[in-house]
Amino acid sequence: MARSTALSEYRHKRDLASSGEPSGDAIGRHRGAAAFVIQKHHASHLHYDFRLEVGGVLVSWAVPKGPSLDPSVKRMAVHVEDHPLSYAAFEGSIPAGSYGAGDVIVWDRGTWQAEGNARDALAAGKLAFVLHGQKLKGAWELLRMRAAHPRREHWLLFKKRDAHARTQEEFDVVAQQPGSVVSGRLLPVDTHTAGEAQESPANPVRTSRGKATGKATRAKPRATSN
Ligand code: MN
Repeated sequence: MARSTALSEYRHKRDLASSGEPSGDAIGRHRGAAAFVIQKHHASHLHYDFRLEVGGVLVSWAVPKGPSLDPSVKRMAVHVEDHPLSYAAFEGSIPAGSYGAGDVIVWDRGTWQAEGNARDALAAGKLAFVLHGQKLKGAWELLRMRAAHPRREHWLLFKKRDAHARTQEEFDVVAQQPGSVVSGRLLPVDTHTAGEAQESPANPVRTSRGKATGKATRAKPRATSN
């Protein structure tokens, strides 16, 4: 799919001049390995945006409960519009009134590899893959649910059994590692609850337009709800 076509829905939903999010105009860099990112996004509801680099864009799903390392716990993942590769670095606040208004942090990132051809697997509704992230590692799967949804495809995201799997009781990765892998920040919504050990409660999350975060913050916010 041509880039302009792939990102047309992304652009249509947003006022990129005011939201500060990436336009996606820049040509995506081509590194050897494809990138993945999970952005924790507190829009009208808290969710995790799971994005895989495929063919020069970030194919994206919104996962309301976030991932689980437990293979028996399958999480709903709503397929949403492709995002530009440059979106992967975005942390910040999407201003009120913009699409997806709210705070975003990079909850995990790294590289990924599809089992087989990624595009073919996505078209078939079953993508097996390996993540090399800071929080998520090993074998995972995305499986499209059969029921047709009028607007959005519903998929399931789940861990496959391997050495990186943990039971949910043993380790709830979403609860126990709530912060950004880029800046260490928490979302404001998380600051009432205990943070990760390495994060200072005294210096919580400033997910904003400030300068708190080096490069991540410089990527400008744009609106995303997904
Ligand atoms: Mn979102």
